[in-house]
Amino acid sequence: MKIFNTLSRRKEEFVPLEPGKVKMYVCGPTVYNYIHIGNARPMIVFDTVRRYFEYKGYEVNFVSNFTDVDDKIIQKAIEEGVDASVISERFIAECKKDMAGLNVKPATTHPQATKEIPGMLEMIRTLIENGHAYAAADGTVYFRTASFPDYGKLSHKNLDELQSGFREIKVTGEEGKEDPADFVLWKPKKEGEPFWPSPWCDGRPGWHIECSVMAKRYLGDEIDIHAGGEDLIFPHHENEIAQSECANGKPFARYWMHNGFLNIDNKKMSKSLGNFFTVREISEKYDLQVLRFFMLSAHYRSPLNFSAELMEASKNGLERIRTAAARLKELEQKLGAAEDGLTGDASWTERLSGQEQAGIAAANELTAKYEAAMDDDFNTADAVSAIFELVKLSNSTVSESSSPAYVTYLRRTVAKLCDVMGIIPETKDESLDAEIEALIEARQQARKEKNYALADEIRGKLSGMGIILEDTRQGVKWRRA
Ligand code: AMP
Ligand code: ZN
Repeated sequence: MKIFNTLSRRKEEFVPLEPGKVKMYVCGPTVYNYIHIGNARPMIVFDTVRRYFEYKGYEVNFVSNFTDVDDKIIQKAIEEGVDASVISERFIAECKKDMAGLNVKPATTHPQATKEIPGMLEMIRTLIENGHAYAAADGTVYFRTASFPDYGKLSHKNLDELQSGFREIKVTGEEGKEDPADFVLWKPKKEGEPFWPSPWCDGRPGWHIECSVMAKRYLGDEIDIHAGGEDLIFPHHENEIAQSECANGKPFARYWMHNGFLNIDNKKMSKSLGNFFTVREISEKYDLQVLRFFMLSAHYRSPLNFSAELMEASKNGLERIRTAAARLKELEQKLGAAEDGLTGDASWTERLSGQEQAGIAAANELTAKYEAAMDDDFNTADAVSAIFELVKLSNSTVSESSSPAYVTYLRRTVAKLCDVMGIIPETKDESLDAEIEALIEARQQARKEKNYALADEIRGKLSGMGIILEDTRQGVKWRRA
């Protein structure tokens, strides 16, 4: 398997620290609101990475944090007149609901910053002791960037340039810094803010330290993969490397993976531009499986543009897979399920017709094509094309006279490949059902009003969606073609 490593800016062969195991850390959201569809991209992408490792037989220890102490959380708590933890706990619960809707597996561990303060104090103490950090007069603790010669290795920035860049921006309250490129590990409390006692001052942690500490606690000093959105490369991940490597005396993560940004109508998503959607808002218009499928239609490192047209295309694509999967399932039920033990290369295929044997060989080739795409830095776009080809194969070769084993084998293959993408092909799209029922209703109304042209137009639209209408005594019934 090859992974594009931001550290080397090259695709590298994946070699785990421990055979058969993957230790993976993904930076999670700051919980002050519902997650937006940009936050959903790393969740979906790295859940798919995890699923593919599991498909390949790896045991994955997947850690993803919730940043539950931060200026925006505190601001919202002040506005609502509640404790910051009320805000963060509320949005952690909402985030978990969205993740379930997106079929993102829960992490092995979901640590929270506020529950990891002792570990942070411990790491900060170590960094001070070994000369990599210092406390200023007001109790702020800074990381001494100049003490880490590798600083800049992830973002490919040079410390000298950084220092002069930072010198331009004078931040008030940071007068105690030795060097403009130094960053905060611990800061003094302000009125009305949550705080914890520490040897340096009552205060709270800087943002970066939490991830170094949680990765160490739940995965160890050295981990296989560290991931997040590309905006985190600098300064967040660069600072995590500095903290972890200076505190632990070991290289931190071997592979750094970063997803590209999600834009809306080719513009950066932002609240001020008004082009900002939460996952919750999208879930009112679409089945979230469509959003997941949309995200995986592009390579994870490419920028991705969110638009209604692309979502419609994803909806139709997903429906094509679902229709084929539903037909396979229906046939399987009609023909009787085949026995277990249908592997790719066993002698059971000899019982099949020549055309079916060729179908099995084609399905195996498509599985290999899918795996080759995923092995090449998780190229989900090409992997999805292989699923579409499999659907085509199934549609053109399966019928009521097929061997049960052939039908079962194809159904299982479709399900297996979709599962890595987190796509559940055999679920019904409730929102689509509602849309179909509304169209049928409109057609009935048109007929009542003797507007046959409109009634026919609606019937045509439904048939374009693969829906067959039947007039029965109980009224109009519909089924998928
Ligand atoms: P935050 O809550 O801002 O710390 O973000 C949580 C995760 O979402 C991080 O991995 C970010 O890089 C990622 N993220 C935020 N906005 C976007 C976006 N528009 N596109 C892709 N990833 C994003
Ligand atoms: Zn992080």
